[in-house]
Amino acid sequence: MVKLLIGSDKMLKQYKKIIIIAIIILVVLALASFITCIVLTPKLYLTDKDIDIEVNTEYKEPGYKSYVINKDITDKVKVKSNLNTDKVGNYTITYEIKYLIFNVKKTRTIRVVDKEYPAINLNGKEEVTVCPNTKYTEEGFSASDNYDGDLTKKVERIEKDNEIIYSVKDTFGNLTTKKRKLIYEDKEPPTIRLNGYNNMTIYLGSTFRDPGYEVTDNCDSNVANKIDVSGSVNPNQIGVYVITYKVTDDAGNTTEVKRTINVIYQNITHSGTIYLTFDDGPSSTITGKILDILKEENIKATFFVINKSDNLNYLIKREYDEGHTVGLHSYSHNYADVYSSNNAYLDDLNKISKKVNSITGINSKIIRFPGGSSNTVSKNYTKGVMSYLTREVTKQGYRYFDWNVSAEDAAGAKSSTEVYNNVISNLRHNRINVILMHDFENNYYTLNALRKIIQYGKNNGYTFSNITMNTPQITHGVNN
Ligand code: ZN
Repeated sequence: MVKLLIGSDKMLKQYKKIIIIAIIILVVLALASFITCIVLTPKLYLTDKDIDIEVNTEYKEPGYKSYVINKDITDKVKVKSNLNTDKVGNYTITYEIKYLIFNVKKTRTIRVVDKEYPAINLNGKEEVTVCPNTKYTEEGFSASDNYDGDLTKKVERIEKDNEIIYSVKDTFGNLTTKKRKLIYEDKEPPTIRLNGYNNMTIYLGSTFRDPGYEVTDNCDSNVANKIDVSGSVNPNQIGVYVITYKVTDDAGNTTEVKRTINVIYQNITHSGTIYLTFDDGPSSTITGKILDILKEENIKATFFVINKSDNLNYLIKREYDEGHTVGLHSYSHNYADVYSSNNAYLDDLNKISKKVNSITGINSKIIRFPGGSSNTVSKNYTKGVMSYLTREVTKQGYRYFDWNVSAEDAAGAKSSTEVYNNVISNLRHNRINVILMHDFENNYYTLNALRKIIQYGKNNGYTFSNITMNTPQITHGVNN
């Protein structure tokens, strides 16, 4: 029994050894496989794990790396993503690497956010000057956002305390405000624009007529009624006169403009003299108004009249009574009749001469041929008629006058400005200037240019006179 016991004790010891060895082996094996696992499991590294990006911007991969032992196997990483950068939200990107039996996964969260504020754009300035006691007229605005797009309709506009506050929120609550400052003041003085010249010259004995003015103001619409005109002109006294136009607007801004009027003697010499001549009148619409202007300007002119209507005879009478020259132009002014023969012209001349005589009592010997002495229209009716007539009328004691300046008012001038320019651009100081104009019906271009032409002449040292038998003759060359 004791032997057996001893024997079994030995066996027990033997078993223990075996078990210990087995455990050691197991532990070693486990350790070995654990180490193998650690070594052979791929490593996966992400740079910047979770990130926020602004909606509608491009996503830039921050990077990842994968290794096993020391070998770079990054190119074997599979990346899966449901990222949509156009839409706010959370998205996941999955990175997966497989190696042998090992499989490693990592994820990255991308939060697509809208942190950008909407933009408000104001039309006009952010600081606006507004006329006192008026309301600012909104110049407009717009708003846009990177996520919502056009937000103009959602802009709230509040006007208070001399400023306007514009505010708008985007879908994600980003709030933008912008202000426009209103400055209620008027520092701009009114504008006075004088009609006519600032420096005028008028002849002694003429009538001074203020050509007027225009007043405007940026704020004060009633400013025209506030103008104060001071100073006066005595046209019967040589001298320099000043008229002052002064106006102050509602806000107290003042403007003052002066006009100087020079009253001078009319010094008549032949050179530089302007002879205004009016053909084809009288007319009911124009002639009387021309006479009014000539009277006011104290100027004498010459009218080459035709037979219009006996109802207008009073105008020929007025021309004569007011000191102008009444010249003879034609009775019928019909080229086909007048130039049908030498005698036809002389008959026509005789008829208008008699008419003028019956109205004025004078025998006018100052004439102008229909179409002028250089006309070619007469060729259509009688060859050589002008060569004959220019000699014949002179023989009979007439003096015929053509012109050396034409207003072109019967030949295509399209405005009073054109008439004015046609005349003034051809005036010369070193000669006499005989100006062809017309006072036929409705010739408003000439009527409206006349005062400016006279003003120009006076301001530029010309004198005005009417044609008399002593006036040097201005004639064209004869063409028929
Ligand atoms: Zn004519």
